Amino acid sequence: MRIGQGYDVHAFGVGDGLILGGVNIPFDRAFVAHSDGDVLVHALIDALLGGLGLGDIGHHFPDTDERYRGTDSLDLLSAVAEMMSAQGYSLGNADLTIVAQAPKMAPYLEAMKLKISIVLDCDSGQINIKATTTERLGFTGREEGIACYAAVLLMPLDA
Ligand code: MG
Repeated sequence: MRIGQGYDVHAFGVGDGLILGGVNIPFDRAFVAHSDGDVLVHALIDALLGGLGLGDIGHHFPDTDERYRGTDSLDLLSAVAEMMSAQGYSLGNADLTIVAQAPKMAPYLEAMKLKISIVLDCDSGQINIKATTTERLGFTGREEGIACYAAVLLMPLDA
């Protein structure tokens, strides 16, 4: 087995909605990002790449590359899922944490689990997503952006 962890942050800017875990969430701001800014999927990608010993998201999908402007992060996750099976691993489980003061995440967590599990070709029960505030402390507490943490366990396909 192999273990991986990931962390990502995106700042809020002008806009009218967020994409998190592949789900559109109505909001009075948007993420400032080269891609769609899906900070949850980016943290998950970094955890998977970390577990595989394959570096990080910036190495594989550089934000200087015009191909990734406004890209759907679930497409990047799909590419990483292919790398995972090529390396001989499948997902055991993923535990994800969204750190956000706003918007409220609870109504969207099940939809995020479903989207991610479809891309990773696993049961939605293998994906856990939690959301927490920071009691108004720090940059997330001031509603300047959102941070996400991801931990994954990878299982060898031949075990
Ligand atoms: Mg990112």
